[in-house]
Amino acid sequence: MKNRVLGIIGGGQLGRMTALAAARLGIECHVYDPNPDSPAFQVCTKSYINKFDDIKAIKEFSSNIDAALYEFENIPIDTAKLIEKMTKLRPSSFILSISQDRLLEKTFLTNKAGVKTASFFPVSNIKDLLSSIDLLNGIGVLKTRRFGYDGKGQIKIDNETDIEAAFKSLNNEELILEEYVPFKRELSVIIARDYKGNIEVYDCVENKHKNHILDLTIAPANNLDKIISNSAKSIAIKIATNLDLIGLLAIELFELNDQDLLVNEIAPRPHNSGHWTMDGCITDQFEQAARAALGMNLGSVKRVFNVEMKNLIGKDIELATKYLNKSNYRIHLYGKKEVREGRKMGHINKIIKL
Ligand code: AMP
Repeated sequence: MKNRVLGIIGGGQLGRMTALAAARLGIECHVYDPNPDSPAFQVCTKSYINKFDDIKAIKEFSSNIDAALYEFENIPIDTAKLIEKMTKLRPSSFILSISQDRLLEKTFLTNKAGVKTASFFPVSNIKDLLSSIDLLNGIGVLKTRRFGYDGKGQIKIDNETDIEAAFKSLNNEELILEEYVPFKRELSVIIARDYKGNIEVYDCVENKHKNHILDLTIAPANNLDKIISNSAKSIAIKIATNLDLIGLLAIELFELNDQDLLVNEIAPRPHNSGHWTMDGCITDQFEQAARAALGMNLGSVKRVFNVEMKNLIGKDIELATKYLNKSNYRIHLYGKKEVREGRKMGHINKIIKL
């Protein structure tokens, strides 16, 4: 097999785990991130410590790799387009642009991919908000269109809420108001598609959050009805094919009481809810992302173990030593130098026989 070089845009834990997985296949990784302390720099062959709008550095990065992927979505779209002009960017800049903006994303999902989401309304001013919250009987979730993550940039509105104050608290950004979904639980599914259109879909998993941050992933989801798991898979396939995806894509879902699923959001990159695949599947999500980006065949997503993945957030990292000697736990630490509240420091996969 030819030696290949993968460019990874973003040097966080997702970039780090992609580089580690790629290395197993003899792939070299060049990582690009303005933060010199990026955890992926510890495990790659070349580091670009440059700003994302540094055109000269982006050009050099792009000219020395066979393909690139990104590990987070907040990359300037012009940078993504420049990289795409010079090399293969997988997933594409088009997919990135959709995932950067909740309004474009939900519009694409409902109008083009034909999948269901919560109903939604664009909100540019208080008048928009007042009229659309009325249509939702006073209950909804107001979110910034861009740059939201882990529950940041969003606020629940109900009949008690001071709507003007809620609007102001989101700093006059372009917003979206969504219907409040009384979901039964949160699920997710990860799909990979190669440049020939071949598809592999990982098992649908269940996600539990604490303080808006993913705490636990149960793989596969507990007591998942066959109808739901088939429907999650077909939603993933619809989205991936309509986006003409090459690469990896995660899809967050709400399961409703009547066996129905709504798509919450998509992320065109390895996803925290896919960390279980590192110890649960023949091919993990990181290796799969690297394979798809470089035009290699996709690997099998067969589940060989059931897994419960627990995130180590902030001081939770101290738990890691306790689990080091336990036989059915695998520990993954991200090499972050500073422990901060709410910071993802690592995760533990509890391996459970099928
Ligand atoms: P998001 O940033 O859109 O993934 O939202 C973060 C979390 O907020 C989700 O994982 C849900 O728990 C909750 N949430 C988001 N949107 C809604 C909604 N429309 N209805 C109810 N809960 C929501």
